[in-house]
Amino acid sequence: MTTSSTIAIVGGGLAGAKAAEALRDNDFDGHVVLFAAEDHLPYERPPLSKEYLAGKQKLDDFTTDSAAWYRDHNVELRLGTEVSAVNAAEHTLALPDGTTVGYDKLLLATGSSSRRPPIPGADAAGVHYLRTIDDAAALSAVLTPGSSLAVVGAGWIGLEVAAAARGRDVTVTVVEAAHLPLLAALGAEVGEVFAQLHREHGVDLRLDQSVQEITTDNGTATGLRLGDGSTVAADAVLIAVGAAPNIGLAEQAGLAIADGGVLVDASLRSSDPDIYAVGDIAAAQHPFFGVRIRTEHWANALKQPAVAAAGMLGKYAGAAPEYTELPYFFTDQYDLGMEYVGHAPEYQRVVFRGDVAGREFVAFWLDTDNRVLAGMNVNVWDVLDDVKALIRSAEPVDPDRLADPAQPLPTR
Ligand SMILES: Cc1cc2nc3c(=O)[nH]c(=O)nc-3n(C[C@H](O)[C@H](O)[C@H](O)COP(=O)(O)OP(=O)(O)OC[C@H]3O[C@@H](n4cnc5c(N)ncnc54)[C@H](O)[C@@H]3O)c2cc1C
Repeated sequence: MTTSSTIAIVGGGLAGAKAAEALRDNDFDGHVVLFAAEDHLPYERPPLSKEYLAGKQKLDDFTTDSAAWYRDHNVELRLGTEVSAVNAAEHTLALPDGTTVGYDKLLLATGSSSRRPPIPGADAAGVHYLRTIDDAAALSAVLTPGSSLAVVGAGWIGLEVAAAARGRDVTVTVVEAAHLPLLAALGAEVGEVFAQLHREHGVDLRLDQSVQEITTDNGTATGLRLGDGSTVAADAVLIAVGAAPNIGLAEQAGLAIADGGVLVDASLRSSDPDIYAVGDIAAAQHPFFGVRIRTEHWANALKQPAVAAAGMLGKYAGAAPEYTELPYFFTDQYDLGMEYVGHAPEYQRVVFRGDVAGREFVAFWLDTDNRVLAGMNVNVWDVLDDVKALIRSAEPVDPDRLADPAQPLPTR
């Protein structure tokens, strides 16, 4: 890549911003252009359902880089510009104003959108989703003390908003189709911990329930009608049933797709050698787990771009650098803070170490050979590196010893 080369980044979230940083950090002195569909400078999303809704942070606090940074680093920032098509053969992007922009290398970081299930009444006023700062501002405005909120979906965002809303003295009902919150993400053992947490904080948790309809009055949501015929009255409704990766551009560009995302190798390169993908959309081969993993996690958006940037620039000796970080996720709900590391879509058992009732513990997901696949530290803050080492050792552990806080963790 030379000074006359152009690297285009499509997607103005955390991954897009970190890619621009990484290109300049790697001394690329060609043209960098970043297209962002939103009108805001790229920002981080985790605070939207936590500190922002709790009134503890404003957008400035979690904006990735200032306008001055983009200016000083000569990054052309095209806010409010949703790239409409990629012509991979010609190496051009089509813009909504009918113009095209050429690229030498392209990084796709288009992230995800809120899933919008076809629930009758979902187009009523007072129905919210949470993906952007504009969504968060609209939701925050209705979380007034004494009001009521019905949340559809007990996943991460639904539960985090429930916690923030309870902190604002809002009556909260959470409706979930599965028999426990976070069941798909964490399994029943730890899902139970979160169910208990929310019940203790006064959330009306309706599990094993489908939402038949969002009830309305004059086009404004009044609550929910559930599968068992019961109703939930609410001043506002949040639909939080997961995210859908924005892969329309990649599909249209003819890139290979896998697991609902853009198929990339461990170096984050797609089926087109001049196009890379990072963040929520990247379905990447994981060198340690030996499987393809696509996660919607902040940590990927933070760290994958540096690997993709090195690959695009050809800045390495020998083999292209690979993204080898273990999947990592965090949440904050009430006084529970936790970090989860690893990958355990299937597991044999969960071992708890510490005080589960007091919510100060570490949970480990083990496979049939008693190897640790994943770990989660809840209100315990000095063990993450040890948990990572345990996973990476891939050695069987003694579950009884693992469960005993008096014994050191068996890391090597
Ligand atoms: C409310 C909320 C709370 C979260 N909390 C946590 C948490 O606690 N821990 C955690 O690990 N993860 C959390 N996440 C997930 C995390 O924020 C995402 O994994 C991360 O934002 C992914 O970054 P990204 O840059 O890949 O995509 P995104 O952040 O989705 O950014 C993609 C951007 O690209 C833009 N775009 C899309 N298509 C185009 C186009 N054609 N042209 C131009 N621009 C385009 C989009 O508008 C968007 O602004 C949370 C997410 C949300 C919404």
